[in-house]
Amino acid sequence: MNRAVFLDRDGVINRLVHRSQDTGDEWDSPYLLSEIEIIEGVGEAIQKINGLGFLAIIVSNQPGVAKGKCDLDFLDKATDFIRSKLLQQNAFIDDVYYCLHHPDAVNEAYRIICECRKPKPGLLFQAAQDHEIDLSRSYMIGDRITDIFAAEAAGCEAILVDGVDTGSYDKSRSDRIRFEDDLLSAVLHILVRET
Ligand SMILES: [Mg+2]
Ligand SMILES: [Zn+2]
Repeated sequence: MNRAVFLDRDGVINRLVHRSQDTGDEWDSPYLLSEIEIIEGVGEAIQKINGLGFLAIIVSNQPGVAKGKCDLDFLDKATDFIRSKLLQQNAFIDDVYYCLHHPDAVNEAYRIICECRKPKPGLLFQAAQDHEIDLSRSYMIGDRITDIFAAEAAGCEAILVDGVDTGSYDKSRSDRIRFEDDLLSAVLHILVRET
């Protein structure tokens, strides 16, 4: 069986994009290639995951198409862009899984209550099936509590990295959850645990 480090995308690998809206400010996914900025230390972190022999797999909610904010072609281009930027740093992403659904989608093809939108664990289960992954010996790193819930539901060890949403996290659960500043420090923690 393989082991994996599952990686959330936005806010973990690439920076979130700040947008000022009539309804207030929000942090969102990039919807232009020029908005995609890889976070410092991410290439090194993924190199270390590769070196440990773990699969590096992105599992990400991407409701931008469902919400009419981008199209599938952009999402594919963004994925290729991120993978190639990381490859330039000798960091290899083994696979990418997106949930495209949203319960309030304007695009009705994606307006369903699915089993793959985190905090549900469907993306991790699908990846585990495709890549023969032992989830109980794998990790999930994310910047939102929904990432942590998905990890727990799948039986993975969860690491929460600092992000715009981390403040909403229920500190009463903090004894059960590992916090790190960013992806590189999360992976350095895994490295210590595994070597
Ligand atoms: Mg995120
Ligand atoms: Zn889904």
